[in-house]
Amino acid sequence: MKPPRFDYRAPESLDEALDLLADSGPDARILAGGQSLVPVLNFRLARPGLLIDINRIAELAGIDDKDDRLVIGATARQRAIEMSTVVARAVPLLHEATRYVAHLPIRTRGTVGGSIANADPAAEDPAVAAALEATMVCRSRRGERRIAAAGFFVDVLTTALKPDEMLVAVEFPKIPDGAGAAFAEISRRDGDFALAGVAAQLVLVDGRVRDARIAACGVGPAPLRFRDAEEVLLDSACEPEAIEAAADAVAASADPHDDVHASAAYRRQLAAAMARRALNDAHARAGGHA
Ligand SMILES: Cc1cc2nc3c(=O)[nH]c(=O)nc-3n(C[C@H](O)[C@H](O)[C@H](O)COP(=O)(O)OP(=O)(O)OC[C@H]3O[C@@H](n4cnc5c(N)ncnc54)[C@H](O)[C@@H]3O)c2cc1C
Repeated sequence: MKPPRFDYRAPESLDEALDLLADSGPDARILAGGQSLVPVLNFRLARPGLLIDINRIAELAGIDDKDDRLVIGATARQRAIEMSTVVARAVPLLHEATRYVAHLPIRTRGTVGGSIANADPAAEDPAVAAALEATMVCRSRRGERRIAAAGFFVDVLTTALKPDEMLVAVEFPKIPDGAGAAFAEISRRDGDFALAGVAAQLVLVDGRVRDARIAACGVGPAPLRFRDAEEVLLDSACEPEAIEAAADAVAASADPHDDVHASAAYRRQLAAAMARRALNDAHARAGGHA
């Protein structure tokens, strides 16, 4: 399969890329790792007139440790996240979830920024961004906008990014002391998109839950955060009954669809099962006792 014709530019500075975006508007697409965009072009599901390849912009490739957050540049590869001891320590949820993304050759090109800008409802990195309330740093010739995850993911493959805006970095808060995080997922085959995946992070103080973050992929039109389930856990000691009640709340709030891979009812059950698994693991990693 061959893509439709397009012009190709590979700017070496962010300003140049933003100028190209501003001048071309909706006719242009950013090319990061190309692992989602190139198949879309080859299937002719999109026909952009211009591809702006951002891979030569050196300042976008970093993974920077900044006080209470990690700043992941737009072209940092998923494989770099997976191999980074800094990410493993500071944002273990992102580290663990990224290992579920596709297969190794795809992760060596694919980027966290591309995954988040693409907003596939079954993708892992957007679910982590939703759980941790990551901040999307977006730039255009008009300036910078910082968008919280709750306002960034709008619908299937749709974000709050404007046509002249580019995602330049994603800021993930570091895991607090006394916290444990876990990601649990089920897919038809290893490396496939998730049927259901759940990201969980719990902060324990004296054995009781002081903060809970739960979000999922694969069970809604966008990554879903489950505030009802989080509420259920607050102040509990994460007893099996509390985890069961939280998993029930996840199932109740999930918004899955039927497709060739699984029925909506089955995905709902999987969401609860993955929530149970992720919460038990997060609790154990936070030092909680079974
Ligand atoms: C066989 C296969 C299996 C896969 N399985 C999974 C999986 O299990 N889980 C998963 O999460 N993903 C999966 N993927 C997708 C993969 O992880 C992609 O790498 C990722 O979704 C997109 O990252 P990318 O850097 O390749 O983005 P690209 O393909 O380059 O871009 C994706 C979209 O985002 C836009 N974009 C990219 N970067 C920016 C930016 N900085 N600012 C604004 N817009 C931008 C592009 O214009 C495009 O519309 C799979 C891909 C393949 C081919």
